Order: sequence, then C-alpha cells, then structure tokens
Amino acid sequence: MKISNTYISGLFIDEINNDHFDLLNPADESKLGSLICSNKNQVNSAIDAALANEKFAANLTKEQRILILQEILDGVILRSEELAAAISLEMGAPINLSSSSHIQMGTDHLQNTINTLNHYSFEEDYDEYKVVKVPIGLVALITPWNWPLNQTLTKISSAIAAGCSIVMKPSEYSALSSRILIEILDQTSLPKGCFNCINGIGSEIGPMISAHPDIKMISFTGSTLAGINIQQLAAKSVKRVSLELGGKSAHIICKGVDLEKAIPNAIDQCFVNSGQSCSSPTRLVVPIEDIENIVNIASEHVSTLITGDPLDASTNLGPVVNIKQFNSIQEHIKLGIKDGYKLITGGPGKPHNCSKGYFVKPTIFSEVPNESALAQEEIFGPVLSIITYADINHAIKIANDSMYGLSSYITCLDTEDGVKIAKEIKAGQTIINKKSRGSAPAPFGGFKMSGNGREHGLYGLEEYLEIKAII
Ligand code: NAD
Repeated sequence: MKISNTYISGLFIDEINNDHFDLLNPADESKLGSLICSNKNQVNSAIDAALANEKFAANLTKEQRILILQEILDGVILRSEELAAAISLEMGAPINLSSSSHIQMGTDHLQNTINTLNHYSFEEDYDEYKVVKVPIGLVALITPWNWPLNQTLTKISSAIAAGCSIVMKPSEYSALSSRILIEILDQTSLPKGCFNCINGIGSEIGPMISAHPDIKMISFTGSTLAGINIQQLAAKSVKRVSLELGGKSAHIICKGVDLEKAIPNAIDQCFVNSGQSCSSPTRLVVPIEDIENIVNIASEHVSTLITGDPLDASTNLGPVVNIKQFNSIQEHIKLGIKDGYKLITGGPGKPHNCSKGYFVKPTIFSEVPNESALAQEEIFGPVLSIITYADINHAIKIANDSMYGLSSYITCLDTEDGVKIAKEIKAGQTIINKKSRGSAPAPFGGFKMSGNGREHGLYGLEEYLEIKAII
C-alpha cells in the first residue's frame, strides 16, 4: 500500500517517483505500506498555497471557524474506530488505549477550542486605545508520532480558531492516522488551501520549513534537539517558534500516603503508551524509609502487566515505535546496569513472549542517584528510576534538578499541601492526586529545555495571535 499525505489546495498528490519511507508495524516488523515523501517543489507549493490563503483564513468569521471545528470533531468521532486501529498499527499503542485516551485527547482539544472561541473576544477597549488580536498568518505545525491525534488536533484547532492558514508536517511514523485526519479536514467547509499537508523524513523536510521566509510561526512538538535546530533556522526570518519538547518529570510520593495504591498508579502513569509520553513521570521520588516496601509493591505490580499484541484488548504495554527507539532504550538500560544501579524488574532484551517486534521489558531501577544519566536523560520507553528523599525540601530539589521542566506529579494526603509543593516545582504543570490531567483545557507546555510554548484552550489560541494596539 502506498500512502500520500501530500495535500495541497484540496488535492492529494501522489507522485510515485518521489522518495518513499517504509512504514513498519512495530509489533511484528512487517511492512504496513510506504509513505510517498513530499519533494522540495511540493513543500514549496504547500507553503505557497497556504500563503495565498492567509487572508481567506483570517476573514473567516467566528461562527464559520466554530462550524469548521465542529465538522472536524464530528469527522473524528465518526472515524474514531479507524483512527484507533491506525494508531495501534503505526506506533504500537494498545487498542484499548488508542480507542480511549488517544481519541479522547483529540476530541477534547476540538471541543475545548470551540468553547474557548465561543467566549473569546478578539477586541478589547481601553480608555484611550483598543487592542485587536489578529491571526499571525501562515503557520507550520510539526508533530511527533507518540500521541499523534492529540498533538495534531491541539495545534490545528488553535490555528483554525485564530484564523491562520496551515501547512502541517506530521511525523512520518504516524502516516496512517495522519492520512485519515487529512481526509476528515478535506470534508469540512474550511476553504481549500487554508489547510495543506506535507510529509517525509523530518531531518530532510524540516529545514525547508524552518528556514522558509513566508512562514510566520512554527509550532513544533518533538525532541529537544530538533527544536533547537528549528529555532536556529527560523531565527533568520524572526519567526515565532513555539516549542513543546522533551521531559524527565518527577513524581513525588509524600510521606504517609497509601503506598499500595500510590505506587501501582505511579507505575501505570509512567508506562502508559509504553513510556512514550513527553510528560511521563519517569523519576519516582519516594521517602527513603519506605524504599523496601515500595520496591516490593512495584515488582509485584509490574508482574501483573501484560506486554504483547497491541490489537489484543488485554494488552497493557505494546511495542515501542521503531528499531531506533528500541535500541536507544536498550542502551539506557544497559548503562544503568553498568553504572551499578539496582535493577528490580525488567532489564535488557525482549519479553519472553515477544520474539518479533520492538517490545521492551517494563524496567525499574531503584535507589538511582538523581544526577545519573538514567535519571537525567529522556529515555522515552517503559523505564522508571526510583529516587529516594529525606524530607520534602529534598524531594522538591530532586524534582527541580533536571534540565527539563515539562510536568510533575504529587501524591499526597492533603491537596492544599500538594498545591504548596507544586508552586515550588519548576515545570509547566503539576498533577496532584490524579492519574492524568483529564479533559479540562488547562494550559500545557514546558519550562527550561522542555520548551517555551503553551497549548490547549485559551493559551493555545493566543499563541497564534498577534496583538495590535490602535491608539
Ligand atoms: P522528533 O523530534 O524526531 O520528530 C518530531 C517531528 O519533527 C516529526 O514530524 C519529525 O519528522 C520532525 N523533525 C525531525 N527533525 C526535524 C528537524 N530537524 N526540523 C524540523 N522537523 C524535524 O521527535 P519524535 O521522535 O517524533 O517524538 C519524540 C520526542 O517528542 C520526545 O523527545 C518527546 O519528549 C517529544 N514530545 C514532546 C511533547 C511536548 O508536548 N512537550 C509531546 C510529545 C512528544
């Protein structure tokens, strides 16, 4: 199967002479198809089409924008089974996860943006001046494969709500779900040319976007290295660059909590999506006096997790996305062992029931020093480091001693205490006594090397606006 995600001015373009990218099923390494990569001319044509439609997008009324977002939402709901299956096939998420969280996060962004737009005023009047908020213009949206619908839809909904024309560049590893999403957009009343898509290998196609003088803003979600490269190339044209990058988030388990509940929850939060979430709490920061008990509970819980076929409804952990990711995770695990940290479960190699595919054993190291590579580097797989603390100030220091600052988690007896701790943590979000952030349009984005952007709801919308004063 050949698949094209080059979509320009309302037409799919599938030039078979272009380069191809093999799409492999991470669960068994079989070939799912091949992605026809966009060539240089097509990249430029997509940008030209979006540029020619900057005004059309900007002139859409609020009601038209809401209608378009609603049409996308209806389309995603209608094709949710297909989307879930595509996500499981292309990146290995268990089907129960792709048909729940993966879809839900996408639909939440659309609904939340509709609600935001309903109440949003693009003009503010002051005594001697007026502020008008106008679309920034042509935006490029570059997204990763790990939560493909979540990341594309949060950007698409905010950009459409703001009145921007779009060139999207989804990950080459999530080409199947991207194709369905483009088809959904194609069926809406969004004027053709306001949304365009290109696809191909990031390091080849990405720089053409980053350096392009007509693009006014790039919203990028992905690795910190690629984000830096984009920002460097974008500097020449002084583009706005909104970055959502990597993380190494801490989860502080406060003293006195019910460990039998807290530890399995913390492990599930870390291992969901096979640990391939930027906001994954991969550093579990626990009271030193409870370490023995915590290690026992953790090993017991991991032994109940089922790693295997993502299309099997009983699976908790699917494979990781590709061989590069698999090898990188193996190297981190081997380094942790070489450095002498206590491996309490998992380790190198594949689980015994998964000889084919990029499956990783859910792995936990205990009593890991926070300054070690294991605790500092983003591994992006099911690997958890347990780090001990003496008192709460020590726990906060551990949480903050990281180059990243994307997320953080606190499990505590009293939520008010949790809020006080949260205010001390240098990260874009803190989740207290909850498994996930839920459906609310709370802003999402990082401090430090985790990025500089904010997505979702009001803050997401405002990323795509220019502020103009009329005096
Ligand atoms: P990646 O950086 O390799 O790729 C992300 C996207 O950028 C893809 O579409 C890719 O093709 C493209 N790309 C790659 N190199 C590029 C370049 N030089 N210029 C322009 N585009 C380029 O990341 P990935 O492997 O797809 O995703 C995993 C990473 O994404 C992890 O580091 C993770 O933490 C991060 N991430 C961050 C968030 C967040 O919101 N902060 C969310 C999800 C993932």
